[in-house]
Amino acid sequence: MFTSARIKITAWYLLIIMTISLAFSLFIYRVLSQEIYRFARTQRFRIEGRFFIANISPPSPDIELIEETKNRLVMTLVVINGTILAISGTLSYFLAGHTLRPIQQMVEEQNRFISDSSHELRTPLTALKSSLEVNLRDKKLSLSQARKLMAENIKEVDELQSLSDGLLTLTRYNSSPTPPEFKKVHLADIVAQAVTKVDSLLLKNEIILKNQVNDVTFTGNRQSLIDLVVILLDNAIKYSPAGSTISLSSNAKGKTVSFSIKDQGMGITAKDIPLIFNRFFRSDVSRSKTEIGGFGLGLSIAKKIVDTHHGHISVISSLNKGSTFTVSLQV
Ligand code: ADP
Repeated sequence: MFTSARIKITAWYLLIIMTISLAFSLFIYRVLSQEIYRFARTQRFRIEGRFFIANISPPSPDIELIEETKNRLVMTLVVINGTILAISGTLSYFLAGHTLRPIQQMVEEQNRFISDSSHELRTPLTALKSSLEVNLRDKKLSLSQARKLMAENIKEVDELQSLSDGLLTLTRYNSSPTPPEFKKVHLADIVAQAVTKVDSLLLKNEIILKNQVNDVTFTGNRQSLIDLVVILLDNAIKYSPAGSTISLSSNAKGKTVSFSIKDQGMGITAKDIPLIFNRFFRSDVSRSKTEIGGFGLGLSIAKKIVDTHHGHISVISSLNKGSTFTVSLQV
């Protein structure tokens, strides 16, 4: 597909360049031909004048020389146009490839995204379908068992809904890399809003939260920054044992403000650290522990939010001791 598009663009570039070049050559040929005739005529008049004075008949104009000069001019123009055709053909092909490369990368990325998403959706959908089919065939299924099954199915549908929400969020950030509204925001307000959203989770998982964030004002998109803190807090809660503490702190230095979320959870292995921001990545531990829900989209969304703010996100972690995620943004 891209090769044929590249060839078509090259052909269009060549058509434009060669039309200009040929029109220009034709113009040069016309002008120079007239000039050759004019020059020959002037020379003839001069010679005729001399012969008139000397009283002898002048020689006839050299038509052959004129034709030869014109032929040589045509040959030169053909060679110039041929060279232009060869050089511009190569350059046009290179330029067409260069123009199409970002579009090709975008289409490839979109295809990868669609195939990854379909793959992730297929597994829970197949599980849901087979559980429904098995129970439908069970003639002895009691009302209480049916209720239990429906409750389980609703939980699975909820998870699928959260997967589709995550995919939509990721698509939104992919298609529009800059959040629409960048305004003055307060770090303390963003963190407070995010904490409110995870309050019930903190309570349910018996986790203590220490909020030591100082208020700093900077420019950003309030809603996406709240989403970012919620993602990091949600992970910190998910991967921490009951009774542990999550600490939130901030630091402002020069034109940079950073905030950290430190947990005392299971930590991340060194080999997984470079992969955790990839879409759909989940560590083996997270995958094997079925009670820890998730689809590996949170941190890739977090990274996109940080990128739209031209910031930086990093993690320091040691296994079974905990992790610290730090986000640095420009004030
Ligand atoms: P999800 O949590 O849905 O699996 P994320 O993209 O948020 O997806 O995280 C990717 C992976 O990074 C998780 O599966 C987990 O292995 C690891 N991870 C993220 N945050 C933490 C954390 N605070 N503690 C330990 N592991 C974490």
